[in-house]
Amino acid sequence: MRRLRNVKIVATLGPASDTYDMIRALFEAGADVFRLNMSHGSHDEIRERHRIIRQIEQDVDRPIAILADLQGPKLRCGVFAGDSEELAEGQAFRFDLDPAEGDASRVCLPHPEIFQALKPGSTLLVNDGKIRVRVETCGADFADCTVVTGGTISNRKGVNVPDVVLPLAALSEKDRADLEFVCELGVDWIALSFVQRPEDVIEARDLVSGRAAVLSKIEKPAAVTAFDDILAVSDGIMVARGDLGVELPVQNVPPIQKRLVRGSRAAAKPVIVATQMLESMIDSPVPTRAEVSDVATAIYEGADAVMLSAESAAGSYPIEAVTTMNNVAQEIESDATYREIMEASRTAKRTSVADGIVSAAREIAETTDIKAICCFTHSGTTASLTARERPRVPILALTPFERTARRLCLTWGTNCHYSGDVQRFKMAVVGAARAARKGGFATEEDQIVVVAGVPFNVPGTTNILRIAPCEERLIFSTDPE
Ligand code: ATP
Ligand code: MG
Ligand code: MG
Repeated sequence: MRRLRNVKIVATLGPASDTYDMIRALFEAGADVFRLNMSHGSHDEIRERHRIIRQIEQDVDRPIAILADLQGPKLRCGVFAGDSEELAEGQAFRFDLDPAEGDASRVCLPHPEIFQALKPGSTLLVNDGKIRVRVETCGADFADCTVVTGGTISNRKGVNVPDVVLPLAALSEKDRADLEFVCELGVDWIALSFVQRPEDVIEARDLVSGRAAVLSKIEKPAAVTAFDDILAVSDGIMVARGDLGVELPVQNVPPIQKRLVRGSRAAAKPVIVATQMLESMIDSPVPTRAEVSDVATAIYEGADAVMLSAESAAGSYPIEAVTTMNNVAQEIESDATYREIMEASRTAKRTSVADGIVSAAREIAETTDIKAICCFTHSGTTASLTARERPRVPILALTPFERTARRLCLTWGTNCHYSGDVQRFKMAVVGAARAARKGGFATEEDQIVVVAGVPFNVPGTTNILRIAPCEERLIFSTDPE
């Protein structure tokens, strides 16, 4: 079940994908990371999906990452009596504070602060900007609007107020409760929505307190401006194009995506490109040409991962959507232009021994017939640095820690295996060669590069590079110690 591509696939789980069989089929089709969106679904539903993923992880004997996405200060409408309604251009529609189920004429918008800030003429955007309404009259608990662009509105769709600044805290009470819940449950990544300042990330990091890696979703103009400082305090980044394309003119999104992907790669932190990648596959078994091109672009840019949202959570073709991403990735990555781009965009800023070692490992692997780069990693740093090189040969990350193996599921090209606790370098080489053979990366006749830090249990000491044969007898006869 070795992946034949480097970019990783994140699949959001929801009502269309909440059984063991479906989630397992998504994993087998290529999903490496499962996203649990805390905006939808009860704690009981989240707990059940989490349990199923951990069960599959055991059954397939491969690490799988779970990413819990906190809602953040996102404005959402309430629910409808019939789950959804069609809004037609020119019709009247009211948002109010009445918690009763909505219908074709009104729905709850449970955020008093919006009504304080709205004025006649303000625009409200619903569902990643697909529906646009104009406020005609408003008061402390209602806004009567005219629909400017119609469409389907359904339960808990996001609402943006692009021309109004709202006084919202980075983490709501719900976010704090959800954060504690998922940390207790044991997730690998926690995504923060609507980050605006590095302080927002630091506040969440303190609460997470090392129990998961922290990923910042960039979806506010302020976050784009403060990107370098946010990146410095985050473990990963998501280019959350849905809200980004609502908060900013849509044509600003592609250049921002490019900048964020490059910046994250330079920092050796995983970056996910998300939202509407295969949107038409919610209702169609085949994607549009433009969507395929969008996925391809993210891969050519060197993103660590591409993501499915409603396509896998609530669509009719979740497996087809993952398969499409997998097929596109395999094709793009075997294109000569892809290699040229990866090499041309490699960052030259190398300041540590570890940077030098991983760069040398890549160069040796590429100029000789070496089959894989095997790196021993405790925190995951050596593997991330190796991945930043975007080598031509597969990366095999060996770690004694389950949590490191799982977190690395989001990192470009990294295949994770448990190494057990290795004490001596010679045994590490033997372990690497075995893992490379078992994983189908190399045969007895091949050679691998091994990157490690000695002594073994001191973090941050990448200081050894060894070219090793895969045949055990040869390892023992050629290894110094
Ligand atoms: P976010 O801003 O965090 O991406 P979202 O509302 O866009 O929130 P996604 O996870 O991107 O949510 O999924 C897109 C859509 O799929 C949702 O708007 C919702 O209609 C549906 N969906 C996703 N997950 C669930 C779920 N667990 N239960 C019900 N519907 C879901
Ligand atoms: Mg969002
Ligand atoms: Mg979304």
